[in-house]
Amino acid sequence: MTPSAPQLALSFTKLPDIMYSRVEPTPVQQPHVLLLNQPLALQLGIDEAWLPSDQALQVLSGCASLAGEGAVATAYTGHQFGHQNPRLGDGRAHLLGELMDTDGQRVDVQLKGSGQTPYSRQGDGRSPLGPVLREYLVSEAMAAMGVPTTRSLAALASGEYVWRDGGAEPGAILTRIANSHIRVGSFEYAAMQGVECVRQLADYTLSRHFSEAKPGALPYLHLLQAVMAKQAQLIAQWMSLGFIHGVMNTDNMLVCGQTIDYGPCAFMDGYDPRQVYSFIDRQGRYRYDNQPGIGQWNLVRFAETLLPIMGDERSEAINLAQQALNDYQQQYEQAYAQRMAAKLGLPSADADLVSELLTIMQAEQLDYTLTFRYLMTQLSSNQTEHSMPQGVVQASDALLVWQKKWLAVVSKLGDETQALNLMAQHNPVFIPRNHCLDAALKAAYKDDMSLINELLEATAKPFAYRPQWQHLAMPPKTKEVIANTFCGT
Ligand code: AMP
Ligand code: MG
Repeated sequence: MTPSAPQLALSFTKLPDIMYSRVEPTPVQQPHVLLLNQPLALQLGIDEAWLPSDQALQVLSGCASLAGEGAVATAYTGHQFGHQNPRLGDGRAHLLGELMDTDGQRVDVQLKGSGQTPYSRQGDGRSPLGPVLREYLVSEAMAAMGVPTTRSLAALASGEYVWRDGGAEPGAILTRIANSHIRVGSFEYAAMQGVECVRQLADYTLSRHFSEAKPGALPYLHLLQAVMAKQAQLIAQWMSLGFIHGVMNTDNMLVCGQTIDYGPCAFMDGYDPRQVYSFIDRQGRYRYDNQPGIGQWNLVRFAETLLPIMGDERSEAINLAQQALNDYQQQYEQAYAQRMAAKLGLPSADADLVSELLTIMQAEQLDYTLTFRYLMTQLSSNQTEHSMPQGVVQASDALLVWQKKWLAVVSKLGDETQALNLMAQHNPVFIPRNHCLDAALKAAYKDDMSLINELLEATAKPFAYRPQWQHLAMPPKTKEVIANTFCGT
């Protein structure tokens, strides 16, 4: 029996024509499969037999299309490192269509690296192998940790070369799934077109993402508040995991609240709030501890686009937006405090305890991820002696003193088993560490996908320690430390 192909529709094309361009992917020479995500296909309601089929290979490499409306590239602008770049848009991505997943949620199916579009500017519309595999791996690891994120359905080699920095690299195409690809930058672009265009994009966004809440008399204020709330939660979650996005431009912030764009991102090894990895972020604008503030900066750009539709009087609209934006700070802080409390097994926030621990971790350059796993091993009800590689965190006197205080709080508040359960849900042991990812990508360039597959398997269950993957849980040795990450477009 031939597998049935997914049914794609396009609601995005109801928006004004200026918001997109109809353009098909450019076929490639000799596509072949690198990675397929069957569990995700299942969640999306895609026939299990379809993803490995020849038709899927053709469609997901841009060599054939499914019956339907045809593909589009979407238009957007954005503030990149604080400066507006008026015309961006999908320069190397094609939205093939939307499908309904098994929860009845409409999701975008997008190819990335699939050829030029009217928004390509000087770019070739393609992507090298490294960034595609990197995005696949990190986005899936984030999803497994429960972080809202775009997903990766497939990574295909194009069988063609792309030219980067004067050298040839194998090309690849990612199939990305997102609740939508509507960005803060999409709103900035709509605002450049005029009030009517923003209103239509805002109405579309409300009905696609925020239809469950009754917006009342002020739908666009509601939209701002809803987007803000999602970003406050998302960034708090990144911070709690030591995740540094690296390129929080407004075109890389989705209004649906999913993480997008895994270019130069990284998880920090030793705790340092000033950590920057991205090679292009020379001023440290997007460093770890700037992320919550940058989130707010981006939301101010978002609010500005909504002002003309938010109230009859501009001053009234500004007041409403201002109040909403002030709430962001508080929502973020609450969300962060709650997540950090959970990492310590506590039912409610304890800011002093957290900041004292972080001060020790910073002074002693303790590994961010494994310090919390180490704390799990200190609970007496512990069945988690082997919940991390042995002997990685050596407790200093300062940490031992802090630990005593923390244990006293845990026992005062109740049950150690409960604390341990909470900690086990909030402290991953397997993250895609920079040095492991780097080694896996280097191997993939030599046609060896085994390290990528190992890392995928370990990070698919980030909270469950399995000793056979011990090397993937270990912090880097001095000579393995990766100081810089590259955007690698
Ligand atoms: P990013 O850094 O991936 O957020 O991309 C920023 C902008 O550059 C987006 O508009 C991309 O579509 C565009 N872009 C990045 N790489 C390429 C490429 N190789 N060809 C065409 N456009 C690109
Ligand atoms: Mg981007």
